[in-house]
Amino acid sequence: MKIDGGCHCGSIRYEAEVDPATVVVCHCTDCQTFSGSAFRTVVQTRPGTFALTAGTPKVYVKTAESGNRRQQTFCPTCGTPIYSAPASGDTKVVVLRVGAIRQRAELIPRDQFWFRSSQPWLPNLSTIKKQEKQPAYDERGVLRDP
Ligand SMILES: [Zn+2]
Ligand SMILES: [Zn+2]
Repeated sequence: MKIDGGCHCGSIRYEAEVDPATVVVCHCTDCQTFSGSAFRTVVQTRPGTFALTAGTPKVYVKTAESGNRRQQTFCPTCGTPIYSAPASGDTKVVVLRVGAIRQRAELIPRDQFWFRSSQPWLPNLSTIKKQEKQPAYDERGVLRDP
């Protein structure tokens, strides 16, 4: 499947081919921190198909508990996470952050990694109340009870 994506400010754009069967959610604590969220959703690119079409991401090399080192890349302007790659910087196969892919609604996770560190409220998400948009805040910056 051909996909394209980019960061929030628009300075980084890319395209690639991915296999939708390789979409996974990762609940590890590193992914929680890097994403600033409860979990991260990723997909691997098909070999040789990833190309940056605009901008150059900033690189941070993460050392895992196992000692494995990987590049984590992000937009230097808006901070959007873009992909991870081997520490060497080889981009033959990269692991894209699905939230920055334009076709993300079609990329449905097939597996969940590190579920033992998943947030305890996650199984109840479907029962937490839902707003079509963000509700208004009052003058004290407190969420107004709708
Ligand atoms: Zn950006
Ligand atoms: Zn992870």
